[in-house]
Amino acid sequence: MIRASVRDALSRIQSAFPRKEDLETLLSLSDPDETSYLHATACAVRNTYCQERIAVRALIEISSVCKNSCNYCGLNRYNREASRYTMSNNEVLQSVKLAASQGFKTVVLQSGENGRTTESIAQLIAQIKQKFPIAVSLSLGEHPYEDYLAWKRAGADRYLLRIESTDEDFYRSLHTDRSLSTRLECLAHLRRLGYQAGSGIMVGVPGQSISTIARDIQFFSENQFAMIGIGPFIPHPQTPLAKCPAGDLLLTLNTIAVTRIVTKYPWMPATTALGSLNRDYRMEGLMAGANVIMPNFTPQRYKSQYAIYPNKQSRAETPESLEHLGKSANLAIDYGRCDSLLPEWNTCTPIA
Ligand code: SAM
Repeated sequence: MIRASVRDALSRIQSAFPRKEDLETLLSLSDPDETSYLHATACAVRNTYCQERIAVRALIEISSVCKNSCNYCGLNRYNREASRYTMSNNEVLQSVKLAASQGFKTVVLQSGENGRTTESIAQLIAQIKQKFPIAVSLSLGEHPYEDYLAWKRAGADRYLLRIESTDEDFYRSLHTDRSLSTRLECLAHLRRLGYQAGSGIMVGVPGQSISTIARDIQFFSENQFAMIGIGPFIPHPQTPLAKCPAGDLLLTLNTIAVTRIVTKYPWMPATTALGSLNRDYRMEGLMAGANVIMPNFTPQRYKSQYAIYPNKQSRAETPESLEHLGKSANLAIDYGRCDSLLPEWNTCTPIA
């Protein structure tokens, strides 16, 4: 049985700027009939606006060095037990080659901050674009405008920078030496430079509430991102949040579903974190409206060192395992570039 109040909230958030109360009502659902209805509605919206498919992106974690002190992340600079590595350009190119040989048309280069110089990353991007017909997404954190410009000029296509939270005080409590305004400025720079910009949040970080998640979803609605990544918080033993519980699975799935219904077009991964809880819940993520899978192409010897949280799953996946995942979710696997689906994307001015 679906309550009339739930049906009404769902219909309102689909047709107008979403009210915070409606978002909170839907995020808080726990009755199995109502959550199934919410997730099925999200899948219908996804299938209408993004087609019935899963985009695949090859993830390469290029460096675990980081100057930041994010309270939740195992790469934070105070974690003396963390192993630090930085892949050489040749090593990254080998990983890209492997991904390209398996038909991937997008690589995502992710790292902590300060593992490599601006120039060496620009060089790497240029080499990738010269050698392979592949889109390059970056997930390298906060940098000055000039760095983003250099990487765009070198050929980068997309940039992922999660907002983490739109609540200023909460943001500062998680990132003691950084501010929400800098994060917003970085996102503005990325858009201005013509990147396909992505953002997102973790769900269940201590101090977060249904109300802050609702506000974050309003932010996604106001700002229309090409990609939105939402995954559960997982406590890392060498962080100040070590003793806190992991993010709630159902709340994470509801957050994916409500975000999908409100924002319609983004590419939304069934995140690695969803695959790293007590079991792999990426299928549930796809059944709540996600539509991206990111197999891990980091070389085996580095995978375990990129420990943002414990027991991080680093599956390479095979064509067969991807097909299986797709079939089970009633979605086709799309090996294409899968660029932004936002209607206004084609009107963006490319950087000179
Ligand atoms: N340094 C870049 C940045 O900050 O965007 C990219 C790397 S960072 C490790 C990528 C994402 O991992 C972050 O945006 C954060 O949401 C997520 N993350 C970090 N620690 C996590 C944890 N303990 N549990 C779940 N996700 C986490």
